[in-house]
Amino acid sequence: MNTVTRIFLMVFVCTMWHASTAQVKRTQVIAHRGAWKADQLPQNSIASLKRAIELGCAGSEFDVQLTKDDVLVVNHDNEYYGIDISTATYAELLTKKHPNGESIPTAEEYLREGMKQKKTKLIYELKTSKLGKERTLRSADLAVQLVKKLGAEKLVEYIAFDYDACKRLVELAPNAKVYYLNGDKNPAEVKKDGLYGLDYHFNVFKKNPTWIKEAHDLGLAVNVWTVNTEEEMNNLLRQQVEFITTDEPALLLNIIQHKKH
Ligand code: MG
Repeated sequence: MNTVTRIFLMVFVCTMWHASTAQVKRTQVIAHRGAWKADQLPQNSIASLKRAIELGCAGSEFDVQLTKDDVLVVNHDNEYYGIDISTATYAELLTKKHPNGESIPTAEEYLREGMKQKKTKLIYELKTSKLGKERTLRSADLAVQLVKKLGAEKLVEYIAFDYDACKRLVELAPNAKVYYLNGDKNPAEVKKDGLYGLDYHFNVFKKNPTWIKEAHDLGLAVNVWTVNTEEEMNNLLRQQVEFITTDEPALLLNIIQHKKH
């Protein structure tokens, strides 16, 4: 074998090796409502966001509701310690505190905290307003305005159960990554409407076992919620989904770290 052939072969082997390793996708970890469980922090608190960042999660998910006076606040339920958020003012919500002493964070405060770093994406869940479509779409408009004002476009990805809200986000922020949560649209439909991916409950993918592959073939990203058992985590890791959303981010990070792909 002459030198040229030998060099050619070496380059060929290296290129093939690189191509094969590049194809191995690592599933990334999204902390659900921040990383709160292990340290008993309030869900959706600034403290839980900080913890998710410390753990090195790829993303930290948080829920955003709209007050009566158009302030975006971070809380999962419609109620915050007995106060209905959609019919309360922001000032009224400030009368109650989380057990760790924090007030309900505004979406702005939450994003500003997240923007102190670049590694952990901020997964903004736009909650459906119980007052109806108009308030839900208002919440979408305000979300895009806020993210633009802060210059947080590269760090924020959106998820929503309301399909019209997803479409509004795509329309207002065409470069934003928007995922649909409700599980009742097939990958082709979600692709057609310009969304970036699916973010469905793991049972949806059990009921529709072809959807992960179909989504990948269409170039859609797949996130799965809320996966808290090792068995289900391993099942989804085998299917090479892009993201798993979990209340147990430290456990999932540990499983991924020790897995031989
Ligand atoms: Mg959520």
